[in-house]
Amino acid sequence: MARVSDTLRVPPGALDLRGIDARSTPGFKGGKGKAQAAMAAHAERLSTLQEQLYAEGRLGGTRSVLLVLQGMDTSGKGGTVRHVVGLLDPAGVHAAAFGPPTPEERRHDFLWRIRKRVPRPGQVGVFDRSHYEDVVTVRVLGLAERRTWMRRYDAINRFEAELAAGGTRIVKCFLHISPGEQRKRLLARLDDPTKHWKFDPADLDARERWDEYLDAYEDALERCTSEVAPWHVVPADRKWYRNWAVTALLIEHLEELALRWPEPDLDIEAQRRRLLAMP
Ligand code: AMP
Ligand code: MG
Repeated sequence: MARVSDTLRVPPGALDLRGIDARSTPGFKGGKGKAQAAMAAHAERLSTLQEQLYAEGRLGGTRSVLLVLQGMDTSGKGGTVRHVVGLLDPAGVHAAAFGPPTPEERRHDFLWRIRKRVPRPGQVGVFDRSHYEDVVTVRVLGLAERRTWMRRYDAINRFEAELAAGGTRIVKCFLHISPGEQRKRLLARLDDPTKHWKFDPADLDARERWDEYLDAYEDALERCTSEVAPWHVVPADRKWYRNWAVTALLIEHLEELALRWPEPDLDIEAQRRRLLAMP
């Protein structure tokens, strides 16, 4: 069976996000019901893999996983974090969300606040927005000069290569929604008093610049996809597909680590004898 990571991975060359149907479900045959049933098996597999990673980290291993989520407002970054993190043991998860940099963060290099939140050995890190804001939002809103953000693509590639060399498996997902679906989701926020707190008028400003954001994302994904830190485009108009696909991607990348239950340096039989000799 084709791997979801191969199906969704950004191919070399020019990327055309407008040519990718946000309602499509690449690699999955069937509908919502079937996807939700498939998730039960996924959840169990993911949970075992995570425990093995965590166990390895506890016994001195250095490996970790970092899931990076980017996408337009309402694309489901937060929902994906809740969903994926919900399948994992919170003890082994490090989730970070990145908003506009604080005055202190702005005094440092753009990667300063990112480096502080990368997963420790054994952990699964999840980023809701990331250093990619510094080549997308910063570019579209003109928050830095062109030559400043242009230099950041190389800085990001170096940073991610360094992170990967240190044992972090990086999985990057662009949650791809259509303007029509965003309209529906923003309207839903306005229609529901329990969701008013989520409504950010700035989301409408960003919506007005949809094409500029897509162009900025195309450049960022093209320039910063690599073997050690691949970008994937996840069609995200259907939440059930988005959850299924991101979970499948995590499982595939964790499986590539060929994790095994670590064998501690312990004489298990001696421990058993000692326990059994106790009253
Ligand atoms: P939310 O994800 O809804 O909590 O919104 C976070 C906001 O922070 C979004 O409008 C992002 O574009 C913005 N943001 C995140 N990182 C940066 C950054 N490095 N520079 C400017 N804006 C950012
Ligand atoms: Mg928001």
